[in-house]
Amino acid sequence: MTKTSTIEDKTKESRRLGAGPASSASIQSDTEPSRDCPLCPRLKDYRDTNRREYPHWFNAPVPAFGPDDARLLIVGLAPGLQGANRTGRPFTGDYAGDLLFGTLIEFGFARGPYEARPDDGLTLLDCRIGNAVRCVPPLNKPLPAEINTCRTFLHATLAEMKNLRAIVMLGRVSHESTVKALGLRAAQAPFAHGAQLQVGEVRLFDSYHCSRYNTNTGRLTSEMFRDVFARVREYLAD
Ligand code: SF4
Repeated sequence: MTKTSTIEDKTKESRRLGAGPASSASIQSDTEPSRDCPLCPRLKDYRDTNRREYPHWFNAPVPAFGPDDARLLIVGLAPGLQGANRTGRPFTGDYAGDLLFGTLIEFGFARGPYEARPDDGLTLLDCRIGNAVRCVPPLNKPLPAEINTCRTFLHATLAEMKNLRAIVMLGRVSHESTVKALGLRAAQAPFAHGAQLQVGEVRLFDSYHCSRYNTNTGRLTSEMFRDVFARVREYLAD
């Protein structure tokens, strides 16, 4: 979906979210990047390589998943090579998706089977999932310039969610890009697992990313992750 958005529109949206106006550097007219988005040359080269090596994979910027009238947005880091970059749906097909979708089903933010396929019939309920960076980065590590560039599309995702009341930010990169998209400086809202911050009408919730590395090392347990979503559910019930 492509929609024209003006600077005035985005300024109004930032105010709705309790933040100052978006900087002019973040303004673009499109809410969705094209499949061949050229804005990050390194990621475009990596995409081209993956298209040659895995021609049956999705290999394009991964769009947000879920209804745009949802009250909850979950922001991850970036597509995994064999997860969202392969399947075309955020968190679908890699380890992080097992914990995320299982937790969403448990707390009523998703319904149906999660079978790690985009056609598995899973439905998000009052919930949407996106990423701070839409293209798969080498070694799962986007560069600061790539995070800054793709924030245009994160901002657009936020702006079109008229009922937004809660955002779960998975990891520090997601946290920092989201708070900047809301018009804050990162120093105004330091990342901490379990932290909450009210920004206008929206409550921000921090969590460590539900990656295999974080769960294998014990940095994030399934109980810690469940606790974040229990708090989100409690907040939305008010
Ligand atoms: S990461 Fe975002 S801005 Fe960069 S090439 Fe992909 S879609 Fe475009």
